[in-house]
Amino acid sequence: MKKEGAFMYKRMKFLEEGRTKEKLTPYMNPPKNYINSEEKSVFLGYPQTIPHPIALETYKNYLEYNENHVGVFSNVFTQLDQTRKMEKELIEMLGDLYGDDTVDGYVTSGGTEGNIMGTWIGKELLGKDCCVIKSYLTHQSIDKACCLCSLSNVITISYTDEYVMDLAELESIIKSQINLGVKSFIIVATMGYTMTGSKDNIEKIDMLIQHYEMENSIKFYFHIDAAIGGLVFPFLHENEGIFKYKSVKSLTVDPHKMGYVPFSAGIFICRKSLQESIAIPIKYAKTVYDKTLISSRNGAAAATCWVMFQYLGKEGFKRELNKLIILKEYLVKKLLSKNLIEVISDQGTNMVCIHFNCIHDGILSDQLEKKYILDGFILKYRGQDYYCYKIYIMPHVTKESLDYFIEDIVRISQVNRKDN
Ligand SMILES: *Cc1c(COP(=O)(O)O)cnc(C)c1O
Repeated sequence: MKKEGAFMYKRMKFLEEGRTKEKLTPYMNPPKNYINSEEKSVFLGYPQTIPHPIALETYKNYLEYNENHVGVFSNVFTQLDQTRKMEKELIEMLGDLYGDDTVDGYVTSGGTEGNIMGTWIGKELLGKDCCVIKSYLTHQSIDKACCLCSLSNVITISYTDEYVMDLAELESIIKSQINLGVKSFIIVATMGYTMTGSKDNIEKIDMLIQHYEMENSIKFYFHIDAAIGGLVFPFLHENEGIFKYKSVKSLTVDPHKMGYVPFSAGIFICRKSLQESIAIPIKYAKTVYDKTLISSRNGAAAATCWVMFQYLGKEGFKRELNKLIILKEYLVKKLLSKNLIEVISDQGTNMVCIHFNCIHDGILSDQLEKKYILDGFILKYRGQDYYCYKIYIMPHVTKESLDYFIEDIVRISQVNRKDN
């Protein structure tokens, strides 16, 4: 092994004269074995996958036109170009799925942007003295959002044994903040926490919010982070329609995760006209106001999501999800029968959070973490701290690849047992 610093790193120069296409051809194409550089390695740790062939084809077909979707189209009722019309209809489709087809919204760069949008609108409506409440399991993009919006009264709630926001604690914090003079709250709930797959009890939080709005004239902005779960839970159970809950104001969902489309594609939706509160005048364009976080957006993403949703329909989403869930159950059953794991959280989706009780401290070797793109973290389980891993079964994962993974775990558990 070379020591660090032993080889000379040459920084790239910006060329005086460009190179020919022939010289660049090797770089214009990914190398062979681009994905599976290591034999039998498979991507297990994140909700990321090779896009669906239909999505890929649509994306490529629209890319060359380089459509720039500045502005918002969900509130436009005049003639729109094809991809803009598709974006408008995409928002309507999701509105229908979630129980309010009058919502506004747009295609974002992903869950982070949608979470920033929700927080930003909340702050504009409530003022910066509002209190933000989230849980320990909430995605870090909400911290980013609070930082960008200069929201400093941010409270993190603990999670229950079911890995959801503790509602008794939520209520006691609302009460104590009201006693301190706080008059408004942004509450962020999650549908499909990244680490555990669990989903906050939105119905109960909605009831709590409505109670405090009526009794105490307190104002709330309720945002749902459904980056992953937004395209999972509606196809898993009876679809409850998140926007049927009156206090829900906005939601973010990521088609580039469980919608099988290429990066970057997220969708932010909110109750009609809420985006007005962040509208900024544009001096030089026919689109007079910008009501989005990022300005220039790629129209190909909207077209791709539209086609993918139309291609799959609810039944298609259910079928795809069921295939993944069957594979997940296969994996969990095998690992359990060989006494290799403790299941920390399994919500019946295509993900599972586990602890390897066959390994010292439950921590995989760097080599195995790298081979399967797994990253660990610590969670409480039955009152104790455990080192855990999340596993996402996505469309590129096969039964064979899971068998390799199980073999690898069996192998290291045997080495471990000999060591002890
Ligand atoms: C992935 C994720 C995000 C962030 O989404 P990006 O698309 O990476 O910006 C936010 N919240 C949850 C729960 C996520 O899983």
